[in-house]
Amino acid sequence: MKVVLATHNPHKVAEFQQIVATTRPDLEVIGYDGPEPVEDGVTFAENALIKARAAARHTGLPALADDSGICVDVLGGSPGVFSAYWAGQKKDAAANLELLLDQLHDIADRHRTAHFTSTIALVTADGQEHVVVGNWPGRLAREASGGGGFGYDPIFIPDGQPEGRERTVGELSDVEKQAQSHRARAFAELVPLLAEL
Ligand code: IMP
Repeated sequence: MKVVLATHNPHKVAEFQQIVATTRPDLEVIGYDGPEPVEDGVTFAENALIKARAAARHTGLPALADDSGICVDVLGGSPGVFSAYWAGQKKDAAANLELLLDQLHDIADRHRTAHFTSTIALVTADGQEHVVVGNWPGRLAREASGGGGFGYDPIFIPDGQPEGRERTVGELSDVEKQAQSHRARAFAELVPLLAEL
């Protein structure tokens, strides 16, 4: 079965393809190169639905879209839906990450808790809509480390790692990230819904 992935972010396309290849190898995930809608929702679900609806309408295929971000507890859940634009409209990943570290400069380790979140919308050509969510809890590092992944990966330390040997997501391999990420967790929720298509 063919599903179109409504994102222009090449990192997300690659991550989805790896997640799908290990969990649903029968699904063919194809990229979307149609018009990009304005993401003017104020929640992850609204934005994911805006993107998936546009791709389903444009291609006539079932469409998946992820809207994701990092939510920092001490900032009341921000950057949240503004994660891509935290330092301005340029979508500069390095500037976003530097600004966040700067804002949390005086915050003690125990208060640096955060989570990555992914909301995936599935919209079929006949208008059925489903929304699923995956969260990946952890905390923010004091400085960036590791060159893997994208966005805030170099400053996010996922929970559940051996004490004294904790790594940021930027230091994990692609396989390690895809086995536990917020996107993989959301996709796992979606698998039974895809089976019904
Ligand atoms: P979106 O493409 O509008 O959903 O924006 C997502 C933004 O959230 C990205 O630009 C990143 O800043 C951040 N983000 C989402 N998922 C990840 C991830 O897996 N690693 C690092 N940053 C992420």
